[in-house]
Amino acid sequence: MFRKAVLLFIVAALSACAQSTHESVPAALGKPISSAAMEAVIDTPGPIDLKTVASAEYVADLSGLLNLKDPKAVEAGLSDHEEPIQIYTHLLRHPTQGFFMVDTGVSRRLVEDPAGVGVGLVVRKFGKIERMQIREDASSAMKSEGEPLKGVFLTHLHLDHISGMPDIPKDVPFYTGPGEAAESKFENLFVQGMEDRFFEGRPAIQELQFKKDPDEKFEAVIDVFGDRSLFAILTPGHTEGHVSYLARTPTGPVLLTGDACHTRWGWEHGVEPGSYTFDRERERKSLLALKALSERHPKMVVKLGHQPSV
Ligand SMILES: [Zn+2]
Repeated sequence: MFRKAVLLFIVAALSACAQSTHESVPAALGKPISSAAMEAVIDTPGPIDLKTVASAEYVADLSGLLNLKDPKAVEAGLSDHEEPIQIYTHLLRHPTQGFFMVDTGVSRRLVEDPAGVGVGLVVRKFGKIERMQIREDASSAMKSEGEPLKGVFLTHLHLDHISGMPDIPKDVPFYTGPGEAAESKFENLFVQGMEDRFFEGRPAIQELQFKKDPDEKFEAVIDVFGDRSLFAILTPGHTEGHVSYLARTPTGPVLLTGDACHTRWGWEHGVEPGSYTFDRERERKSLLALKALSERHPKMVVKLGHQPSV
């Protein structure tokens, strides 16, 4: 009996696992567009009102946030340590489409009672949730807009990007990149139960329907509202379906890299994230494509995954 249990455990442990088994369906929102068509308009001021909220202070291992084996990191003498980071939610308001969030910030309930909202033992032990210090929780960030939340665009499905979900009303749709929930790796064994619990009772995940970028500057780009005000840029690597966002605001273009780049040092030196990565090569390519975009459009404000860029 014991042997059988051990065998079952080994089989389970060796099996790759999806991030979430919650149903995903093709999103009705968004039209594919070429990167050239996007770049033709992004320096023209646009209608999106964007406010970034640092929802919580947090810490993470630098070796997770940054590839410390990159020659530039070695040359700079960087070594692993606990790095201070922030967890953001970006509040987007479109004049006719309404209010949306990019990523969710942090729910107070998640920090005060992680087990109660479905965070399993392993994530509680290794995820350092007790180190999340809330500055403005997801609920108050959401209510500060004074109108109903129409949807949440998730850059990806890692805990620190969905940690506000317990505060989000159950009927609000969530959008991800292609194959994000189904991303298959061993470590997902420890988060799948939590992610499924977060999505319990919610509509199917809306997967944005990208088509290959004919200009090949990016893998693919979507015009989210069909009026060239907000773009979803497929930047896979950190996760299978990672998405960055670019908004045209009245003061110019704002790029939300998500975790295509976590840190200011990584952005400035073009070094991709470390051990938190799903596919290092693709992630590096995504990061360098975003950096090249910002260099072609120097007025662009860049907001990184977990640290201020200036
Ligand atoms: Zn993150």
